[in-house]
Amino acid sequence: MSLRTKFMLALLLTGLAAVAMVGGLAYVGMTKKVDVIRRQHAADTFYEGMSAYLQKYGSWQAAGGQDAFDEFMHSRRDAQGSRPPPPEQDGEDRQGPPQGGEDHPGPRQGEDRPGPPQGEYRPGPRQGEDRPGPPQGEERSGPPQGEEPARRDDRPPPRRGGGEPPYHFIVADQDYRVLLGAGVYRRGELLPDSARKDARAVMVGDRVAAYISPEGVFTPSKQEMQYIEAMREALLAGVTGAAALAVLLGVLLSRGLSRKLSHLTDAVRAMHGGSLLQRVPVEGKDEVAALASAFNDMSEQLAHSHEELKATHQTILAQAEQMRELSVRDALTKLHNRRHFDEHATTLFSHAVRHKRPLSMVIGDIDFFKRINDQFSHATGDAVLRQVGEILRSHMRLSDLVARYGGEEFVIAFPETELPQAAALCDKLRNLIEGFPWHEVHPDLKVTMSMGVYADLAAGTAEAMLQKADALLYRAKQTGRNRVCFA
Ligand code: GH3
Ligand code: MG
Ligand code: MG
Repeated sequence: MSLRTKFMLALLLTGLAAVAMVGGLAYVGMTKKVDVIRRQHAADTFYEGMSAYLQKYGSWQAAGGQDAFDEFMHSRRDAQGSRPPPPEQDGEDRQGPPQGGEDHPGPRQGEDRPGPPQGEYRPGPRQGEDRPGPPQGEERSGPPQGEEPARRDDRPPPRRGGGEPPYHFIVADQDYRVLLGAGVYRRGELLPDSARKDARAVMVGDRVAAYISPEGVFTPSKQEMQYIEAMREALLAGVTGAAALAVLLGVLLSRGLSRKLSHLTDAVRAMHGGSLLQRVPVEGKDEVAALASAFNDMSEQLAHSHEELKATHQTILAQAEQMRELSVRDALTKLHNRRHFDEHATTLFSHAVRHKRPLSMVIGDIDFFKRINDQFSHATGDAVLRQVGEILRSHMRLSDLVARYGGEEFVIAFPETELPQAAALCDKLRNLIEGFPWHEVHPDLKVTMSMGVYADLAAGTAEAMLQKADALLYRAKQTGRNRVCFA
């Protein structure tokens, strides 16, 4: 999975989680708050009605009981009926405001009367109307006075759709004897402690005329359900919007991030390919910008170090070549030395044998060189050696191999050269040495060289050919020096 995709997913999940959490909390909080407000409103409405009812008649008994209370509440509602009617509701689905002593049914289908707003007290149907809930007689029949209060087992509290018990109010007198049991308690029962703790006293003058205690669960009405549904839809729209925003932001941000990172990736690949000096754009001041800046510095340093290393490497290579050259060169004459000659003479010999090509080997020795040293100085001897070396070197072809073999001895290998040409070449060299203006070095100085030339590959090795040439050199020395002997 690419970094871009991960980034987008992270944003999406974070956005959704945040919206779901905030929206969920808001939804639960609002639902609870609505419930509390409605509950409070219903309680206030019921309390005000009951309070007015008892104020008017003095006591429940004096007033005439539940039916009179229902009538009173209807009249009271009718007197306040100038307020606008609530939306039309289905009496079955709607959870109406709490009713005293019974489940609170809403207005019946077809019943043409304005209802109170949601949460207000709505009195039950008038006497003689067919209304749901417990039968009147049963509702009002209670245990004898003084009997232990108990929840009625023979008639369970009414439930709505098999769920929680509906929300309603229990009314009890000043001694906590039930006046309106709401289908939960019989009239005359003592209200249990559990119901007393939430009971609210209704005062008439200075005395308590009744207690009102809420009972059951406040389930939302159809209208409230519509409000809650609207909230849920708004929340869903919010979540969808947040998800779309997260995706959009994810695409934009990840595109920017991946573009910056792709610069770095390309640059690293280019470095891997050998181009060490790379520069990537540094945009902004974030971590990626810091990374890009550090990368640029690193690339610059690396390229600089690499250049230095390359230069050092070249120097080392040159020095190694110098060392190698020195190791195969004679320091005095700058000609190759004996070791180099032996290695390459072997190669030349093998080549000549394999290709049946001619090869001539020559060894030359300066005549009476000891005497030159003795007569003119060792330095003069060195100068003679250098000059003889120069004469030999300057008259060689590139393919020829010449070396100072030791002391005042020089060796030459002439590839592709038959004996007569080699002998002629050597005689020319001998002539050049003899004819050099040695008097410029010292007025009395004369230098000659004797040479032996051998060109028969049958000798078997380059070394053997050289020995044969050395024997011929000996003959040249023996026969008067300053001459070339060959075979
Ligand atoms: P011949 O004609 O028989 O070759 O006599 P020669 O004197 O040349 O031979 P010999 O081998 O007796 O002498 C060679 C001398 O070369 C001995 C040595 O001191 C001298 N020599 C060897 N290497 C060097 C060198 O590098 N510089 C100098 N100046 N002399 C050297
Ligand atoms: Mg010698
Ligand atoms: Mg000599």
